[in-house]
Parts: sequence; C-alpha cells; structure tokens
Amino acid sequence: MSVVVLTNDDGIHAPGLAALEKALGELGDVYVVAPEREQSTCGHALTLHRPLRPHRLAERRFAVNGTPADCVNLAVLGFLPAPPVLIVSGINHGANLGDDVTYSGTIAAAMEGTILGVPSIAVSLVDGGDFDVAGRVARLIAMRVLVSGLPPRTLLNVNVPAQPPLGIRLARLGNRVYLDKIVEQADPRGRSHYWIGGGDPQWDSLEGTDMGAVHEGFVSLTPLHLDLTNHRAMMQLDDWPAGLTAQLRGETARPPRRAAATPPTRKPRRG
Ligand code: MN
Repeated sequence: MSVVVLTNDDGIHAPGLAALEKALGELGDVYVVAPEREQSTCGHALTLHRPLRPHRLAERRFAVNGTPADCVNLAVLGFLPAPPVLIVSGINHGANLGDDVTYSGTIAAAMEGTILGVPSIAVSLVDGGDFDVAGRVARLIAMRVLVSGLPPRTLLNVNVPAQPPLGIRLARLGNRVYLDKIVEQADPRGRSHYWIGGGDPQWDSLEGTDMGAVHEGFVSLTPLHLDLTNHRAMMQLDDWPAGLTAQLRGETARPPRRAAATPPTRKPRRG
C-alpha cells in the first residue's frame, strides 16, 4: 500500500494527531512522524545546526526533536521505506485562518510537503470543536486528493468549525486586523518583560473568506500556493526599475570601491 504521512505542530502526544490517525488509518501505510513536543507558531523553521534523532514509539510512529517541516523532510527524503503519496498535517488545536497561516507550523508542514512534490493538506479545528468530526472531514478530503490530485505546487488549508459543519466551502484567506498591544509586566526583580499575541483576533470583511465560512458554520477549504508575489503590485511598480536603474548606474559610475577580499561563499542549502 502507498505510504501516507501524518504530522502536526502540537506534538506527537496531541489528541488532534490521534484523531487524524484514527480517521486516516485505512488510507494506506500510515506513518506518524511528528515533533516530540509542541511547536505551535514555529512557522516553516528547519533545524540545520544540530542532528535530528527520531525515536520509534511504535512500529510506524516516530517522535522527532525538531519542527514539523523537519519531520516532513525526514519522511519524504529517505527516512521511510518509500516516499509518501500524501501528507496530512494536524488536526491542529485551534483554527489557522487568514494571515495567521504564516505563523502556523501545521501549515508549514504542508508547505514543505508541497515544496518536495507531495500532495499535502493542513487540517485545523476551531477551539472547542470535536476532533472526531474534524477527522471525518479530513478523511473525505484526503480521499478526494488521493483520487483527483491537487493543482501543481498547491496545498489545501482546511478549517473545521466548532459546531457540526453545515457543509464545505471554498474560501480565500481573510485579513486579520491587528489591534493587539504588547503587555508589559514586571518580574519579581522589577525588570520588565513583555507578552505578544494577546487579545481576541478581529477581521475585516468576511465575504468569501475562510473566516467567514467558519463563522457561518462551514468547513473552509483554501487552496494555497507558495508564490507570495503580489502580481497586481508588479503592475503598480512597473515604472520603478527604470528610475532606480538610472540612479544605480549614476552611483556606480563613481570610482570603484576596493573589491571584497574573498568572494561570498554559497551555503549548501537554504537556511
Ligand atoms: Mn498547533
């Protein structure tokens, strides 16, 4: 059977991951390769400066001293007997909507899978929701992806509402309005420290967005790609390069500075 990999950012012992395992157990040879401890909001971090040591907890369960993206690297690039045909990340404890996707380790795992050419899905459940329900949603969508595939370089971001879902909606990412302030406190020695990320999130127009769908009781299904280019802005900035190039040439027409002693070294891979 084909290898299916499950991972998450809440850690190998998280109930959301157990629910995913239960729901997807029969979709293939299911392997769990997940961080040994919680990595929420770690984003797309990779561990390049210390070794990764997977611990085998069961025949097909591995806890890794790294990030979700590390786990996907191991799983896809040779740690398992065969590369996976599908990666499912989650079920995250809490929604991953709108701009917040950029912080999410859950979504970064699916991004890493996508970069490495494996169809990938991220699944998150709004706080207070039912993991069994989210597991059923994950299973339906995973089966559809196995049958139909995904568009090139595209991952799916799935959010399940807290109430039993009314249906499944395609939705774009919403925009979060950040009104948060840092919270300053004093420690017992009178030194200041700070907390970020307090306060309830607020959103602008919900029409057509993932937040809107979840707010109305639907599962949101958002296809994401890794092209962060703002194509509309390319047109708006269309006349910048000519002017900037002229300025650059004007500056570089001055006497050349002393050449660097050594050429910059290339790093062996991204970092
Ligand atoms: Mn998480």
